[in-house]
Amino acid sequence: MSIAENVEKIRRNIAEAAGSGAVLLVAATKMNDAAHVREAVAAGVDACGENRVQEFLEKNAQNAYDGAPKHFIGHLQRNKVNKIVGSVDLIQSVGSAELLTLIGRRAESLGIVQDVLIEINIAGEAQKSGIEPRQLEEILEFSANFSSVRVRGLMCIPPISAQSGDNRAYFARMRQLFVDNGHKKYDNASMDFLSMGMTDDYMDAVREGANMVRIGSAIFGRRDYGAGKSLLEE
Ligand SMILES: *Cc1c(COP(=O)(O)O)cnc(C)c1O
Repeated sequence: MSIAENVEKIRRNIAEAAGSGAVLLVAATKMNDAAHVREAVAAGVDACGENRVQEFLEKNAQNAYDGAPKHFIGHLQRNKVNKIVGSVDLIQSVGSAELLTLIGRRAESLGIVQDVLIEINIAGEAQKSGIEPRQLEEILEFSANFSSVRVRGLMCIPPISAQSGDNRAYFARMRQLFVDNGHKKYDNASMDFLSMGMTDDYMDAVREGANMVRIGSAIFGRRDYGAGKSLLEE
């Protein structure tokens, strides 16, 4: 199947799971070259999400994302903050107050407002980034310190699901955090986007209220990681 056909099929699945709610489809473009990314943009994905700073810079220089908003969805190292702030429309993976601070300072020096999502380590996995759910209110209040950052919602990367339904409880918990904090008034934070769901579990995520999904393999085909590499090393 072509990338366009894959996108169409995902849209149908999302519509089936979502009912009437609008869900943004972010193409997770890692390890796919500029030509493939352009195909996904032409097929109408709502944004492109990149994981690695270097890969983003290379494809961005090739105008691979033209026509679609750019998101950063991977682990952002502190020494690479300056390369990303102001270059992407949304940084989805802000998993600490320290990173929020660095992004805020950089955005301020550029005279821009950077949109971000707060990443939640919803399954409490030791090896994953993201804040604990109980730290969320604190970091949303902390964001008031930076008029140059706007928190637009939440994202999570739950465990790789072995079978359908595995992650529904995590997605439901995310949804609860999203709704609860959406009712509160924060200076620089609003709950607009709930980013959760990947190739193996996006239908469940949408059923539990995701309004943004990040999908790679189901659009581009399975990635070839080579021996010994896993998703967690990205
Ligand atoms: C790779 C990646 C995805 C998409 O993964 P698939 O299982 O290929 O759909 C989504 N989110 C993040 C943060 C990723 O790194």
